Amino acid sequence: MQIPFVNLTRQNNELEESLVNIFREIISTKSYIGGPYLDEFESSFSNIVGKRHVVGCSNGTTALFLALDSLGICEGDEVITTSHTFAATAEAILHVRAVPVLIDICANDYNIDVNKIEASITPKTKAIIPVHIYGTVCNMPEIQKIAKKHNLVVIEDAAQAHMAELKEGYAGTFGDAAAFSFYPGKNLGAMGDAGAVVFKKEEHATLARKLANHGRSDKYLHDIPGYNFRMDDIQAAILNLKLKKLKEWTENRRKIAAIYDNHLKPKGFKVINPDKGNKPCYHLYVVEVSNRNEVVSYLKNKGIVTGIHYPVPIHKQPAFSNVSSYKELPVTDNIVERIVSLPVCGNINQEEAKYVADCFLEIAKI
Ligand SMILES: *Cc1c(COP(=O)(O)O)cnc(C)c1O
Repeated sequence: MQIPFVNLTRQNNELEESLVNIFREIISTKSYIGGPYLDEFESSFSNIVGKRHVVGCSNGTTALFLALDSLGICEGDEVITTSHTFAATAEAILHVRAVPVLIDICANDYNIDVNKIEASITPKTKAIIPVHIYGTVCNMPEIQKIAKKHNLVVIEDAAQAHMAELKEGYAGTFGDAAAFSFYPGKNLGAMGDAGAVVFKKEEHATLARKLANHGRSDKYLHDIPGYNFRMDDIQAAILNLKLKKLKEWTENRRKIAAIYDNHLKPKGFKVINPDKGNKPCYHLYVVEVSNRNEVVSYLKNKGIVTGIHYPVPIHKQPAFSNVSSYKELPVTDNIVERIVSLPVCGNINQEEAKYVADCFLEIAKI
């Protein structure tokens, strides 16, 4: 059996006819940037983020940047986030000239440890970026409480968390803003780069939209110096098509994750263990092992491709170690040596998941 880590071929084959029709439509409508397909996408995507104001943009990194910039985070401000994330979270903070303040995660769900936030707040702290890592929503009610008490902005990094939910709502509906990525391998993926930033308040969305489009208020009038962070219409049209499948694909990921859980947990393996009422969208299925190199190569020989998300945390990256602020991060430092991601992408089936779990158990050590 051959099981790729992310099986986009299967997903795209299923949609091939409709995808080809999108290309035909774009050729005939000549709608390349910021046209009706983007309008349609922004309005349908708002349905899974509590009807918030959605601004389509070029990728998840520019979505984070637009959130920070539109909410007024700037030079010298401190932004609290986790070290256990993808580089883009820290990059976006640095691009508004703010300082990433990295704190530790909880061992159960790998998300920001809310009990460590207040100790990291200084007079310079302006924002918190909780990263819903692997598609498990952070403890947002607690984060909102802390943010309110200290007058901080909250920006959700929801790049891995499309349709992940707490009983209080979907990822992206808690912060002042949230950033989503539609990188091809994300739960909702374009056929190229794309992203969206969603805001609680319309005024911030208006500013972000302007910043993403050269600071324009009109075709030939530029109010502020902006950027070109727009989403292509062809990507928006592809996302419109795939968004209709997102619920089904998310349910499939949850089914596959449940199969892994049922095989691995009784044998004592530490897997993502969300709080009660928390429903991850399983962008990644992560398990801890003590013999990772062995596991990865054994599974590779069995035709199974795995990943590591992420082997080097932000505070140990050459790009960020000197420009971020952090103290001890014992949970992060421990788990980055142990984590391995098993294939869970969209259209993997139950038989394949059982094969992966069986092969994993033949080699993995706690
Ligand atoms: C993918 C990702 C991003 C960045 O998204 P891009 O679309 O690749 O720019 C940001 N944060 C996290 C946690 C991600 O996984």
